[in-house]
Amino acid sequence: MTEAWRPEDDEERRGASGPVRVRVPAKVNLHLGVGPLRRDGYHELNTVYHAISIYDELTARRGDTLTLTMEGEGTGELALDDSNLVIRAAHALAGYAGVMPHARLHLRKQIPLAGGLAGGSADAAAALVACDALWGTGLSRDELAGIAADLGSDVPFLIHGGTALGTGRGEAVSPVLARPTSWHWVVAIADGGLSTPEAYRELDRLRDTGAAGPPLGSTDALLGALRQRDPRVLAPTLGNDLQDAALAMRPTLAATLKAGEAAGALAGIVSGSGPTCVFLTADAADAERVAAELEAAGVCRQARTTHGPVHGARIT
Ligand code: ATP
Repeated sequence: MTEAWRPEDDEERRGASGPVRVRVPAKVNLHLGVGPLRRDGYHELNTVYHAISIYDELTARRGDTLTLTMEGEGTGELALDDSNLVIRAAHALAGYAGVMPHARLHLRKQIPLAGGLAGGSADAAAALVACDALWGTGLSRDELAGIAADLGSDVPFLIHGGTALGTGRGEAVSPVLARPTSWHWVVAIADGGLSTPEAYRELDRLRDTGAAGPPLGSTDALLGALRQRDPRVLAPTLGNDLQDAALAMRPTLAATLKAGEAAGALAGIVSGSGPTCVFLTADAADAERVAAELEAAGVCRQARTTHGPVHGARIT
């Protein structure tokens, strides 16, 4: 990974007396291959993660207890208690490192809730990196990734960022070595979210009844395309096995995908379990045009131009 988090960037081991601010990106899956349901209730995944330039920001300050406040996307809807992934991550790190979980945490959220962009996982990754610096626990990246995997399948990737292959239930991450390129994406954010577990259940149902499309299979074509710098080569290799399920749960997404392609996007797919749709465009100017047309067509709540890959959770 080209821009991974490095412990030497932090005020490691001593702990920080001032606030620690961490920025963490959203992810899209350029390829989301869903295999069979495992005995532990997870599906076997074969995915290519890609971090894009929509960010949440977590600020950690010293405190006498553990508290969380927030602003932005999901304020008033998202519980700030022990169920929040930020709090769970802080407790997990404190337990592992043997320190008191004391911090005042504030989350500025731009990643929509339950949008298929792994916002909750991103916040957990940010909390691990921020609290590690605040408390001076100085864990290695492998140790943080181990704690991250217990918090959620996408959390290890969001510590690393970039573009990476995910296997197992998604938690086993290895970097994709590609020539440095910035890809331009339009992210069409929908009203309301979709539940990830329900999307997997819907896919199982569609497969049981023979109504699902054929599984994506290997990531070879996508990985080959990433090595070239041509978005027209990359476009036909994007794919998501959960897309049929998301479309069954939210039929209006078909109109969003169609509008993006009519506006000149090279390809459009549902991101993760949806309902966010993501469009690959030829360049930054095309991305602006596609975003404006998507908003004018009224097929999404908001269309944002973004680029990727970007680095994972990192102190700013
Ligand atoms: P994924 O793509 O990983 O399935 P998603 O983008 O669809 O995730 P998230 O926004 O990550 O969905 O959150 C899914 C659920 O996780 C939320 O509905 C919420 O109940 C819970 N959650 C806990 N903590 C957070 C957090 N800090 N931010 C967002 N969701 C959180």
